[in-house]
Amino acid sequence: MDEIPLHHVYTYNAVDRAFWREHLEDWLPRRIVDAHFHFIDPCYQIETITEEMRRQYWVLETNLMPTAEVAEHCVRTTFPGREVQVLAFGFPTLGWDIEASNEYVRRECLRRGWRAMALTRPTWVAEQVAWLLDQPGVIGIKPFYSMIGYSRQLREGHLEADILDFLPHHQLEVINERRAWVVLHVPKADRLGHPSNQRQIREIRRLYPDARLVIAHLGRCYTRPHAEEGLLPLADDPGLYFDNSAVINPDVHELALRAIGPERIVYGSDNPVFYMRGRRQWRGRTYINRTSHPFHFNTEREPPEVEARYTLYMYEALRGIKTACERLGLGRDAVEAIFHGNAERIVADIESRKPAAASPVHAIAHSTEAG
Ligand SMILES: [Zn+2]
Repeated sequence: MDEIPLHHVYTYNAVDRAFWREHLEDWLPRRIVDAHFHFIDPCYQIETITEEMRRQYWVLETNLMPTAEVAEHCVRTTFPGREVQVLAFGFPTLGWDIEASNEYVRRECLRRGWRAMALTRPTWVAEQVAWLLDQPGVIGIKPFYSMIGYSRQLREGHLEADILDFLPHHQLEVINERRAWVVLHVPKADRLGHPSNQRQIREIRRLYPDARLVIAHLGRCYTRPHAEEGLLPLADDPGLYFDNSAVINPDVHELALRAIGPERIVYGSDNPVFYMRGRRQWRGRTYINRTSHPFHFNTEREPPEVEARYTLYMYEALRGIKTACERLGLGRDAVEAIFHGNAERIVADIESRKPAAASPVHAIAHSTEAG
């Protein structure tokens, strides 16, 4: 009872329960939309992940994919007493069977009243994207630079690509027409502030104003200097949205909430990776992930008594958002908007335009009749 397995090496323990009670229970809204979540049955992974690959890229070691059942168990455990809706996608690299991943995520989301984003390859014709968006339960796409081509370097392989290299114009035209959601994880080591990212985001907004462009992880701005460079120049575009997943830093949340405002930021966890236990520390433009599990990258450990007090990264991130809201004196309306209102409004708008047969409610009824 004391320690509940979540997923992979992650568990939920007494520290987490106490943290929830102290910081989150009375503050988080009853309804929550987690707009950035990865799950996929590992049976769809084609590529064999070697020990060498795990050592090379920390995400491969920390971010094993859960099945839908495990994902649901984790969501219920970490958000006790909350009604949680998840917007989910698989793992965006060519090491996975992408078509089968999309169908699995879509089907499992439908069963749970969740929504799915389809992973897209930039080589697909417009009709392929249109077909995916017409499927019941699918509300948008999750493009990613790793989908440009296979690279054993995984992350670094296409990191310096431009946005339009993996989110091409002909696909954006379809997205714009359907007013669909795009989870945009920006490329470049320089993150959102890179001039090419800034220029192409403005270009996409100008040419495709009805696409719901949602910049993931606040543009990968995890430190204050990156947030100033990346977020501030884009903050005045009233049609541009952001998800705050994987951001822990309260200074970054504060800057984002002040500059962009709570009506254009949606909550996301980036789980399962944020079931990791520990804390993040920032120095200038860099950060270090502290954690208590002996992952290969985890070479700078903290004393055991410090590690014993670690909670889940997702809880630290939630506290970061709470701290920022309190510093800015934001009221309940703002908190409700970030945690469910904004995402629900966008999803409702997208679904109101889908072909009638494609609404999730209808699809669930239909599948019940059929079987
Ligand atoms: Zn993610």
